[in-house]
Amino acid sequence: MRLADKLTAIKGIGEKTAQSYARAGMETVEDLIHYYPRTYEECAAPVPIRSLQEGGPVVVCAALASDARVRYTGKLKIVDAVIRDETGSLRVTWFNMMYLKDVLRSGKRYVFKGKLSVSRFGMVLEQPVIYAPETYVPLIGKLRPIYSLPSGITGKGIEKAVKEAFAGLGMLKEFLPASIRRKYALAEYNYALRTIHFPPDKTELTFARRRLVFDEFFLFILAVRYLRDVNEVQENGCRIEPSPLVDQFEKSLPFALTGAQKRCYQEILADLTGPKLMNRLVQGDVGSGKTIVALLALMQMAYGGYQGALMAPTEVLARQHYENFTRLFAQAQINLRVELLTGSMTAKEKREAYGRIAAHETDIVVGTHAVIQDKVHFARLGLVITDEQHRFGVRQRENLAGKGQEGMEQGRQQSLPHVLVMSATPIPRTLAIILYGDLDISVIDEKPVGRLPIKNCVIGASRRKKAYEFITNQVKEGRQAYVICPMVEDSSSVEGENVQDYAKKLAEELPPSITIGTLHGRMKPSEKNRVMEDFAAGRIQVLVSTTVVEVGVDVPNATVMVVENAERFGLAQLHQLRGRIGRGQYQSYCIFINGSDASKVKRLEILTRTNDGFAIASEDLKLRGPGDIFGLRQSGLMDFALGDIYTDAGILKEASEAAGELLAQDYELRSEENRELKKRLDRYLERKLDTLSL
Ligand code: ADP
Ligand code: MG
Repeated sequence: MRLADKLTAIKGIGEKTAQSYARAGMETVEDLIHYYPRTYEECAAPVPIRSLQEGGPVVVCAALASDARVRYTGKLKIVDAVIRDETGSLRVTWFNMMYLKDVLRSGKRYVFKGKLSVSRFGMVLEQPVIYAPETYVPLIGKLRPIYSLPSGITGKGIEKAVKEAFAGLGMLKEFLPASIRRKYALAEYNYALRTIHFPPDKTELTFARRRLVFDEFFLFILAVRYLRDVNEVQENGCRIEPSPLVDQFEKSLPFALTGAQKRCYQEILADLTGPKLMNRLVQGDVGSGKTIVALLALMQMAYGGYQGALMAPTEVLARQHYENFTRLFAQAQINLRVELLTGSMTAKEKREAYGRIAAHETDIVVGTHAVIQDKVHFARLGLVITDEQHRFGVRQRENLAGKGQEGMEQGRQQSLPHVLVMSATPIPRTLAIILYGDLDISVIDEKPVGRLPIKNCVIGASRRKKAYEFITNQVKEGRQAYVICPMVEDSSSVEGENVQDYAKKLAEELPPSITIGTLHGRMKPSEKNRVMEDFAAGRIQVLVSTTVVEVGVDVPNATVMVVENAERFGLAQLHQLRGRIGRGQYQSYCIFINGSDASKVKRLEILTRTNDGFAIASEDLKLRGPGDIFGLRQSGLMDFALGDIYTDAGILKEASEAAGELLAQDYELRSEENRELKKRLDRYLERKLDTLSL
């Protein structure tokens, strides 16, 4: 078996299963062995029934006191049983698992692992997993991998496939030079891979993980430096003269730009009018006003005769940008033409839009990433801006530029567009230099004047009613509110408030005059748009939503945000979320509800002490400590499968140092010692060229 083999090369994986894997992005054996567990489960020793306490997972080893019974309530089929050990007895229930009735034997001992809850009949062990004692006992104290399951694949299925893959592959070649492994005390490749899937204990897991995180960062940094070198002499093929019309527009705005916005705009303008192609990151906390800076840049290019595109990650956000731009242009009587392009438009609408873009009847295109990248042919594209996306691939850029020039006037040089990336993710400057070494960086580190800082608090679930009263009062004063829940639908395996049920419950708690809307990722884009428009127009007063509102949405009249199960989110993410409020002239309030025990409060309280995204990320890191492998990932940034740029900042620095030393000695990786690394890097580049930016 080879790394590049299709997954069907693995025993037990047929075409159909392979398709399920493919939908989760796994095509080859290599993809599979790099599909790391999401977390691990520690197999605890069974405890006596008498000492059980409510809540949390429990494990008991007990005998079935009598045959299991089946009862029906509504649509549910429930299997009931009583189990007994030397210290007491306990009720056990399973939902919709009828076959258990015939499998479980009265009088026989099993290990039961499940959640203990209290019903009106006393304590009940719900939906426990059942093991034969002889299979469970050897597992005690061991860590079992838990994978994010692609639909159609079971945890056991992945485990088995990974084991088969390792057996089939045999030993893989180590690709890190021995000198680097020695210097940074990194585990061997094969050992690390096997251990991350099947760790004997936490110490070994930590050691293995460190190596694989190092790999991710190291390859990323090498790739970025390599690409930067390729791109060093990229000339500005769409150079413009600054237009005074843009300054006039800026003066007509209802607000004055902050100093930071002005500086950032000047830096961009210098690029657009200068000799080299722009490749710039604009970093500014939520609400710092990045959009207007983007608009000014788009206008400059438009007046210079070039088209520009602004790409947003969601339709909701794209639409909002579009409406914002058209409104501002109408107010200032600007006659530049803006076009909206989203997936939910009809085929005819899209076709017409494509026509106008190709004929240069449009100056500025606003849309979702996918739409702009796949289908559009620009007449004369000069600037691409991505909002809230951190990378924009080399190929994507070339595709856009290349397509634009097809069939244009003969003889004109095809030129790449400028690239501007806008991000609210707080990355300390030292890290940004490592990660975005290939980009120039502008920072908007100042909020518009007159903003009142958000007031925050963390409360337990028992005080939820107070939060509702607060929402009611704010709505009476004309304001609006968000309520954020982690999950969409009720699911028996995961706790947590969910949007649909929650909205129903909330409707009973709030006065009937208040209109409640719901928003979540599984809704059709057109439905999402409608809800967002209703909320923006004030027709919905309270919006119950998942984190889809996280990115970019701007409704200045919303002043309250309640976050349910706040402990389930990363702090950086919570900070992004609360950026949806505090955007207007009114005082805003963010209420974090801690749905877990009090131990989580300390972490959440970091959010109440500061509104500074950078400070939050670093405080969180201090509290949790680096290498907190069971903790929440903060950023999920830049597609690292394991590494987290905050919690693994130490490894990131080492990887950066190692890459620097390596390239200083052997820039083209020609030496014998670096041969395997070169091969690995080439494969990495081949795959990542779409997402790494130049
Ligand atoms: P973000 O940086 O999070 O993308 P936005 O660009 O959405 O922020 O701006 C947030 C809000 O602040 C918008 O309503 C915008 O019109 C407003 N805004 C932007 N710049 C200023 C400014 N200099 N003074 C006052 N309000 C501003
Ligand atoms: Mg924004």
